[in-house]
Amino acid sequence: MTRPTVIQEKSMTDHTSRLSGFATATRAERLGVLAERLGGDAEAVSLLERLGPVDGELVDRMIENAIGVMPVPLGLATNMIVDGREMLVPMATEESSVIAAVCNSAKRCRATGGFQTSYAGSLTIAQVQLCGLSDPHRARLEILGREDEIRVICDEVDPQLTSLGGGLRGLEVRILPTRAGIMVVVHLIVDTRDAMGANAVNTMAETVAPTLASWTGARPLLRILSNLADRRLTRARAVWPAAEIGGPEVVEAMLLGAEFAEADPYRAATHNKGIMNGISAVVLATGNDTRAIEAGAHAFAAQNGCYGPLTHWECTEEGSLAGTIEVPLSLGIVGGATRIHPVAQLCLKILGTDSAEALSRITAAVGLAQNFGALRALATDGIQKGHMALHAQNVAIVAGATGDEIEFVAAKLRQGGRVTEAKARKILDFLRA
Ligand code: NAD
Repeated sequence: MTRPTVIQEKSMTDHTSRLSGFATATRAERLGVLAERLGGDAEAVSLLERLGPVDGELVDRMIENAIGVMPVPLGLATNMIVDGREMLVPMATEESSVIAAVCNSAKRCRATGGFQTSYAGSLTIAQVQLCGLSDPHRARLEILGREDEIRVICDEVDPQLTSLGGGLRGLEVRILPTRAGIMVVVHLIVDTRDAMGANAVNTMAETVAPTLASWTGARPLLRILSNLADRRLTRARAVWPAAEIGGPEVVEAMLLGAEFAEADPYRAATHNKGIMNGISAVVLATGNDTRAIEAGAHAFAAQNGCYGPLTHWECTEEGSLAGTIEVPLSLGIVGGATRIHPVAQLCLKILGTDSAEALSRITAAVGLAQNFGALRALATDGIQKGHMALHAQNVAIVAGATGDEIEFVAAKLRQGGRVTEAKARKILDFLRA
């Protein structure tokens, strides 16, 4: 670890956040600054020197001001069958019960064939905001009438994408009343193939905006994709026989739980959070953009004017429980971090996926499995029993247990019902006495 040379601005206090040159410093220099901030605690900072499977150069290239990595556990969901294919699904998550829930849910629908999915396509929307128009309807028709010219401009931006069968596929022009007056919003609908496509479509929007402005006399402002990716919907369905989930009473209880989410946004938010536990873990493991997926999912859940659940549950004629999920998934197997992060690459290899479509289908299936697990737990024992059983080891670690002590303390915590840090400390004191 090297000591910083020109980094801290001496004119300010020791704890200034103004660190000129921090971005261009080496990572070792940044760690030197950090160690100084922590009262010369080089040992604490040395934790950040170990990067695991990622090298320092990559971390530095991926983000600004990099000091290290934040490792998140990576696990494999077993038992999954998606569209007839057996698969192991890598999931990156810090929440203890997430992967266990997917494994358990997937096991219980294997007899009915697992998850059947469908995919609406990889169309990404880029928006161009046009302001200051007194005749927005004229502008709208002008733009719609020149779709061919717009297509040429957009497709020239990314010839590689065009050569792969992607490019501009459609055009929408919306008249948007706002508090600041009428705006015209142009949607460029672009097939981004196996990429999430944010950078690809953002460049298209920025390139075409001056032309749209020159045709209409508008002032072009924001030019960026929409994360409400409702042209990239992925759907999955699975059927759980009543016998696999505890009988007709459990089916009925789960349906009542699902109806609660349909009727109440307070419940729907938590219902969807559970779904995203699964989805975000696959998204993160494959190097995709978790924020984009989360934003899209929640915006889609509110698209009808009232926030609702992303899954729907019903009873089949045979008395089984059938679940469906419909969710926008803007995922890629190229672009962003997917191609440059070695662990993301490995995860894609484990999945054996060769397209954004395949990845999206699997991810939607995991979301549905996760929701089944949460709904079943909530409608029967309550979520805490399973969750805290798995969380007990974390609590033991927080209480100070190390090595073999961890499982000993966790086991005692599980036996006693309530899993608290105070109780873990008592068990630990007893063990060490
Ligand atoms: P990218 O910029 O790396 O571009 C992907 C490119 O890969 C395409 O333009 C295409 O030419 C090429 N390509 C090669 N093989 C391909 C194939 N088989 N299919 C499709 N394209 C292929 O990545 P991107 O997907 O355009 O952008 C994703 C990144 O943008 C993510 O890191 C995301 O975090 C970031 N981002 C997100 C937002 C947002 O969500 N609001 C905004 C800006 C940036």
